[in-house]
Amino acid sequence: MLQSLSDCYTLNNGVKIPCIGYGTFKTPNGGAVVDSVVNAVRAGYRHIDTAHRYDNEEGVGEAIRRCGVPREELFITSKLGNHHHGYREAMAAFDLSLKKLGLDYLDLYLIHWPAPLVCRENYKEKNAETWRAFEELYRAGKVRAIGLSNFWKPHLDALLETAEIKPMVNQLEIHPQFPHQELVDYCQSLGIQVESWGPLIQGKAFQYPVLKEVADKHRKTVAQVCVRWALDRGVLPLPKSNHYERMKENADVFGFSLDAEDLKRISSLEAYGRIGKDPDTAPF
Ligand code: NAD
Repeated sequence: MLQSLSDCYTLNNGVKIPCIGYGTFKTPNGGAVVDSVVNAVRAGYRHIDTAHRYDNEEGVGEAIRRCGVPREELFITSKLGNHHHGYREAMAAFDLSLKKLGLDYLDLYLIHWPAPLVCRENYKEKNAETWRAFEELYRAGKVRAIGLSNFWKPHLDALLETAEIKPMVNQLEIHPQFPHQELVDYCQSLGIQVESWGPLIQGKAFQYPVLKEVADKHRKTVAQVCVRWALDRGVLPLPKSNHYERMKENADVFGFSLDAEDLKRISSLEAYGRIGKDPDTAPF
């Protein structure tokens, strides 16, 4: 039972991953991301999510050095950019991410999108090659866990045909508007930890009266209901706020649970569907 921000899920290779991560999408490199990550660590987060694509890895690295918590107590994720699929490209991109972060290992490295525009025609072969690089990085001890992001069932099944090491994580758009429950169930049946990006529906959660009503019932906030909703499914949420009080609020989700009536009411939001791109038609 998860009882605090530093409690962990255990990945299929035994590595522990703090059960709520701190997101840095759209936080600009430099002072903004340094301040927000330092504050997130001060608020208790030990798991930080960045990506090549966010263009803020240098600032995240600076924050890691400044935050006052030893590197080995932090869990740092980055992701392979869409222009770097392929064996040699992925090896080079990983080194560049490490260099920008100023780290000598990553905790988790993910393939950000399964079928980028530049290799959509032959994405299966490209992912097989990319995964071979990921496996090599993992075996060499440069990364403690490897995984995927935005891989829906067909992308995942194709990768599993040639993978020697099963992915440990799949980071997906998951929130009350888009629970994607079949895919969550499938990943969980394979022992793949699901992470939720956009757990607060990228800010849209705050416009729905039904979430406010459920929150009021528990004397909690809408953000807390959304984070709790993810944890209750065994999913690992990555809420993002640049405000210290909200960072703390978003992680203060222990000691209450949603009941069947709440879940039924929240499920009415499924009518609105996903907000992110379909990985097979995304314009990037
Ligand atoms: P989110 O669902 O975390 O929502 C963030 C928005 O909610 C921001 O506008 C913020 O101001 C607002 N907010 C946060 N806490 C609040 C509070 N307590 N009260 C009121 N407003 C609040 O959206 P996100 O940042 O897109 O997703 C979280 C993280 O997931 C990202 O930062 C990133 O690390 C990751 N992500 C990954 C992918 C992917 O393709 N793998 C895509 C998007 C995001």
